[in-house]
Amino acid sequence: MSNETLQAVRGMNDILPDEAELWLWFEEVVRDWLASYGYRNIRMPLVEPTALFCRAIGEVTDIVEKEMYSFEDSLNGDQLTLRPEGTASCVRAVLQHNLLYNAPQRLYYSGPMFRHERPQKGRYRQFHQVGVEALGFAGPDMDAEQILMCARLWKNLGLSDVTLQINTLGDSACRHRHRAKLIAYFEQNLALLDAEAVRRLHSNPLRILDSKNPAMQALIEAAPKLMDELSAEAIDHFAAVQSILTQHGILFEINPRLVRGLDYYNRTVFEWVTTRLGAQGTICAGGRYDGLVGQIGGKPAPAMGFAMGVERLLVLLQEAGMALPKPLLDVYVVHQGELAARLASQVAEQLRDENLRVVLHCGGGSFKSQMKKADASGAVLAIVIGDDEAAAGEVSVKPMQGGTQVRVGVQALRDTINKLIRQE
Ligand code: ATP
Ligand code: MG
Repeated sequence: MSNETLQAVRGMNDILPDEAELWLWFEEVVRDWLASYGYRNIRMPLVEPTALFCRAIGEVTDIVEKEMYSFEDSLNGDQLTLRPEGTASCVRAVLQHNLLYNAPQRLYYSGPMFRHERPQKGRYRQFHQVGVEALGFAGPDMDAEQILMCARLWKNLGLSDVTLQINTLGDSACRHRHRAKLIAYFEQNLALLDAEAVRRLHSNPLRILDSKNPAMQALIEAAPKLMDELSAEAIDHFAAVQSILTQHGILFEINPRLVRGLDYYNRTVFEWVTTRLGAQGTICAGGRYDGLVGQIGGKPAPAMGFAMGVERLLVLLQEAGMALPKPLLDVYVVHQGELAARLASQVAEQLRDENLRVVLHCGGGSFKSQMKKADASGAVLAIVIGDDEAAAGEVSVKPMQGGTQVRVGVQALRDTINKLIRQE
């Protein structure tokens, strides 16, 4: 057996304690924000039947064609996939448990997603999303609600520099008409298509519009526009969304090329983008998906959702100079001698009863070396207990940022500490 150090899987990252602090803070902000709009948490498995994603996302999409971690369960032969996104699982769970029976649902989830992509900054093989789904709401008020929500989150996080792009994909009849015109147009220009476009021509011609190939941009620019095929209902819906956004002072750009990577979207789609993350500039994306519930076997119900990429958001926050407030530790307890060790452990537990964050020094060593650890811990206070203090039922309290050390009885410790911590 090789004794080389094992490494994490490429594109799957450890989040080390310093960075995890930022994640925890972010998750707290997100939780409060979701609660303020009445969204409730739902938690689905990380593994689902492969068929769920094929059916929900669409066979001819980047995700299903080449990004899924799919495998056979070696024990029973089931075809399984690590979830590449959350919408399909969420809708599956809602249908399986009949959550739409009585009322529409506002739901959210967060956690890792898995896609076999080429890792680069802002693009990983295990990454994290916060996903928000509202099921059973047909009107443009919901589309606007979700976009307004995002705007509020950026504000709560202190992010500027993110802009909103929206588009409408119309309804299935509009899309069918548009699709037929697109196929005819690209067939007339077959020689100008690259191999991927040729492959998609009959299976998913809309995705050709999403191509980044510079050689095809002129052709794409002149292609038949979905806008010209929209039904009156779809136009009204989109106009109503825009009008609510405008009432709230939300700026947006209509981007007719915004088609989204997944098949299930219709009507409103949107992306929040930044220019600060290079090619990985989309931090949040979503839209309406009225057909999906029916498509995966439920009684048809309208729905609207979005997901944000947590890694990309956090990079953006770090680049904007986000600094985390407050020290992480209140007290570091150093002690020497048997009697002192016993008292130290009691004192540490008492302070935790007071909701203080306390590290009890473990592993012995001289006072000097223990004080070094206390210093490095970032604690606001050190409590120092030697055997003579212990014998007297007292401890010394030392403010780590300077200030005089005081010696107090164990009974008075609580008040002394609270006073000193609150002064910080
Ligand atoms: P992209 O065009 O960047 O590949 P996408 O359209 O595939 O994005 P969605 O499926 O809409 O992405 O996922 C929503 C969000 O999740 C994205 O806007 C992005 O912020 C984030 N995201 C998607 N894929 C990754 C990844 N591989 N690594 C990190 N974040 C990702
Ligand atoms: Mg992608």
